[in-house]
Amino acid sequence: MLEIKNISKSFGNNVIIKDLDLKIDKGDVVVILGPSGSGKTTLLRCINFLEKADKGQAISGEIEVNLKTASKKQIHKIRQKVAFVFQNYNLFNNKTALENVTEGLIIGRKVPKAEAIEIGKKALDKVGLSEKYNSYPSELSGGQQQRVGIARAVALNPDIILFDEPTSALDPELVGEVLTVMKNIAKEGTTMLVVTHEMSFAQDVANKVIFMDGGVVVEEGTPQEIFVRPKEERTRQFLKRVK
Ligand code: ATP
Repeated sequence: MLEIKNISKSFGNNVIIKDLDLKIDKGDVVVILGPSGSGKTTLLRCINFLEKADKGQAISGEIEVNLKTASKKQIHKIRQKVAFVFQNYNLFNNKTALENVTEGLIIGRKVPKAEAIEIGKKALDKVGLSEKYNSYPSELSGGQQQRVGIARAVALNPDIILFDEPTSALDPELVGEVLTVMKNIAKEGTTMLVVTHEMSFAQDVANKVIFMDGGVVVEEGTPQEIFVRPKEERTRQFLKRVK
């Protein structure tokens, strides 16, 4: 489904990701955990070319691209397959919820407008926003705005959705509604790679958990393996701090 090989990224002299490999199979819900600053967000951003990696390959089906030197056309191809949900929603404030969802379909995918609207409405229905098609972001709560962000990703029908700390900008009482939506789309078989500090989501929804520290994968396994029987001392220390 998506394989990342040998990715590295530094900012100046700061090595953020070191020769990291990652493999995500169809239907996987993979959660990446790790301390603040361990490179989780940077990894996700490099996979979707929001940052340029120093080296590495991304392989998705028949497409293989270099994460440093990919052409615009190749980046476009990968983005057709990989959707992104941002920590701060990244919605257009001057567009309605429905317009935010249909924009990528109409402009990026060249889907005819009427069809895009049908797809967009279905995606908003799926995240529980049937009543909010015509609302602007400023008229929505943070949780609702993030659900629009998720609907926008779902509407693109990607092979995989990357979630970059999707609940960390939300007031605590709004986190649950977003996690519920993510849980529902996971149940439908959506392939997901999720960076989050929400341990309950990792425990309940993920089939694979990756613990990252210092730009490398320290340990990976099932939630049971990571949370109940972690092998590495660094993982144990991290879990002790966050539990
Ligand atoms: P958190 O859980 O706090 O979000 P993270 O594991 O996602 O942390 P990253 O956001 O990937 O960590 O950041 C890793 C390191 O890279 C941090 O030290 C950060 O300051 C640095 N960094 C990230 N983006 C940039 C940038 N554009 N320029 C310089 N340094 C950056």
